[in-house]
Amino acid sequence: MRKLHHFHGGIHPPSNKEQSTRTAIVRAPLPSRLVVPLQQHAGETAKPVVQAGDHVLKGQLIGMPDGFVSSAVHAPTSGTITAIDMQLIAHPSGLPNLCATLIPDGREEWIERKPVNCRERSPAELQNLLRMAGVVGLGGAAFPSDVKLRIGAGKVGTLILNGAECEPFITCDDMLMRERAADIVQGAELLRQLLDADEVLYGIENNKPDAIAALQQAISDSALNHEAIAIPTIYPGGSAKQLIRVMTGLEVPSGKLPTDIGVQCFNIATAFTVHRALALGEPLLSRIVTVTGNVRNAQNFEALIGTPIAELLALAGALPDTDGYIMGGPMMGFSLPDVHVPLVKATNCIIAASKKLFPPPAPAMPCIRCTRCVEVCPADLQPQDLYWFAQSREFGRAQAFSLFDCIECGACSYVCPSHIPLVQYYRFAKSEIRAREHDKQLADQARERHEFHEQRIEREKREKAEKLAAREKAVQAESIPGSQTLTPQQQAEQAELEARRAHILELAKSEVEHAKE
Ligand code: SF4
Ligand code: SF4
Repeated sequence: MRKLHHFHGGIHPPSNKEQSTRTAIVRAPLPSRLVVPLQQHAGETAKPVVQAGDHVLKGQLIGMPDGFVSSAVHAPTSGTITAIDMQLIAHPSGLPNLCATLIPDGREEWIERKPVNCRERSPAELQNLLRMAGVVGLGGAAFPSDVKLRIGAGKVGTLILNGAECEPFITCDDMLMRERAADIVQGAELLRQLLDADEVLYGIENNKPDAIAALQQAISDSALNHEAIAIPTIYPGGSAKQLIRVMTGLEVPSGKLPTDIGVQCFNIATAFTVHRALALGEPLLSRIVTVTGNVRNAQNFEALIGTPIAELLALAGALPDTDGYIMGGPMMGFSLPDVHVPLVKATNCIIAASKKLFPPPAPAMPCIRCTRCVEVCPADLQPQDLYWFAQSREFGRAQAFSLFDCIECGACSYVCPSHIPLVQYYRFAKSEIRAREHDKQLADQARERHEFHEQRIEREKREKAEKLAAREKAVQAESIPGSQTLTPQQQAEQAELEARRAHILELAKSEVEHAKE
C-alpha cells in the first residue's frame, strides 16, 4: 500500500455533491445556435479560418492555433457559420472576445475521422496532433496539453491523473470516472508514453468510492501497471502542488514547475479527451458539465462547446429565486457576466445561486490577528500579512512574502471570523504587480529603443565625418603635382615628352648662339 502524505492546512466545507450524482450523465440536446469562442485556452487566440456563410462539418477546424501556447478550435456540429465577431464570453473580466456563431443543420455530419496509430508516430507528431485536436486541460485552467507534454517530455518519472475534484458542488469528473473509466485509462497510458514516465497514479478523494472502484476495474482490465489511489477528502487537495505533496511527499519549490521535480499532472477528463483525439480521431467538441445549485434537477450534461449556458440551466430547471450564476465551484469560481454566454472547454460546473444557498457576506471587520487563516493556508503563507501589504499597497513586501505562491483557494477567507474577502485583496495585489511589471517592461523597451536610436545617429554622424575626411584627403592628393600615381605607360610617355622638350630647348639655345655668331 502506497504511503500518503499531508499538506499544511486545508478545510472541510460542505461537499454538496450528492445532488448531481443521482442520475447518469445526460447528453444535452442540440441547441439552435452555438457560439464558439476562439480563445478558450491559456495563451494566444486561435485565428479564424472560416467566414460568415461557410458551411462546416462537425469537427472541422474553425480556429487555427497561433503561437506556441495556443490551441485549435472546431465546429461542434455541422451547420452554417453566420458570424465571426466579438461576443460576451464566460470570463471573470466580463469582456467580449472573438467568437464564431454556428447555426446547426441538425445532421451532425462529421469530417473524416482519422484514428492515429501512436506506435507509428513520433512524440512531436503526436503533440502536434493534440494541439490540432484542441486538447486543453479540462480541470479548469484550459492550458494546452501539447505544451505541458513538450515541457515534461523526458523529465517526468511520475504521471499523476487528477481525479480529486475537491471543490464543493462539482461532480463532472466523478461521473466521468464512474461511466468512462476505460477510456480514461487508455488516455492516461498515451500520456505516460508521451512523457516517458515510469509510473501512473490516479489521485481520487475518498468521497468517490464508485469512481475509485470503476478506475481500479478499468486498470485491472487493461493489464496496465497504473494505480488508482484514494486520498483524504480535504479542500484544496485537488490543487496540483497539494496533490503532488499528498501522493509523492515531494514539494514543488516556490516559482518552480512540477516537472522540475519529475512530476506532471493531468486532469482525468483531459486523459479521456486525449484518448478520443488520438484513438478515435475526434477533436475536443464537447465536455461534461455539472449544472447544480438552486435547480430542480442537479445533474451532469454532456454538452457541445458553444451551447448557451441558459439552455443548460433550463434543462436542469433553475428555480425562480435564482439571483446569479457561478462558473466553477463556490470557492474558486466566478460570477458569470450573463447567463446567455456559451459553454467553453474550461466550464466544469455551473451553479445557480440564491440568497438561501449563498447568503450575502457579513460586512468585513478589522483583522483581529487570530491566525486562523494561517492555520488553514495550504501554501504555508501568512494570509493576514499578505492582506495587510495588499491593503497598504506595499506590493514589494507582499511579493517578498510569496504572494505569488497563493493559489487563491479561498480557504483563508472561508475561516476568517472578520469576514474579510482576503482573496480579492490578493488578486488585486497580483494584478497591480503584473501591471507595474508590464509598465516597467514597456518603459525598458522604450529606453532601449531610444538608446539604440541615439547610437545609430552617432554612428551615422561618425561615418559621414570619416567619408568626408577621406574625400578631402583624396582631393588634396590630386592637387599636388607629380604626386599622382602614374601607370608605367604614362610614365614612359611623360619621359618622352620631357626628352622632346629638352631637345627643342637645346635646338633653340644653339640657334640663338649661332645667331650671335
Ligand atoms: S487563498 Fe492564498 S493565502 Fe488564502 S489560504 Fe489559499 S493559498 Fe493561502
Ligand atoms: S483569519 Fe481574518 S481576522 Fe484572523 S488573522 Fe486572518 S485575516 Fe485576521
